[in-house]
Amino acid sequence: MPEDTLFSKIARGEIPSTEVYSDENFYAFRDINPGAPTHVLVVPRRPIPMITDATEADALLLGRLLLVANKIAEKEGLTKDGFRYVINCGAWGGQTVFHLHVHILGGRPMAWPPG
Ligand code: 5GP
Repeated sequence: MPEDTLFSKIARGEIPSTEVYSDENFYAFRDINPGAPTHVLVVPRRPIPMITDATEADALLLGRLLLVANKIAEKEGLTKDGFRYVINCGAWGGQTVFHLHVHILGGRPMAWPPG
């Protein structure tokens, strides 16, 4: 069933995670393999496999996803020095979990371009 992604199970508490934020539409948790001192994943509870699968009907959800990420970045103390949002898309984009998520990476200067 489409609800049954790894991140859906994490969002439902069926797989343990370190919660950072939770509301009726979104769940955020610390990445198990952090790429920076702060590495949080924000997922919509309703799974969309890839950002390119989003439709007009998802416009509000996508906007809210970034506003939730902003709230977390502020709470994590990242906004003064700056930080990075990443959405990987597909194989060449480095996506490994096909449930749309925003990476929040911070706590050190970020290299550009990313690998
Ligand atoms: P993607 O490569 O799809 O953009 O990002 C998937 C992210 O999920 C990776 O950074 C990976 O470390 C993280 N991840 C994969 N499995 C788990 C898990 O079971 N728990 C947590 N907390 N993070 C995970």
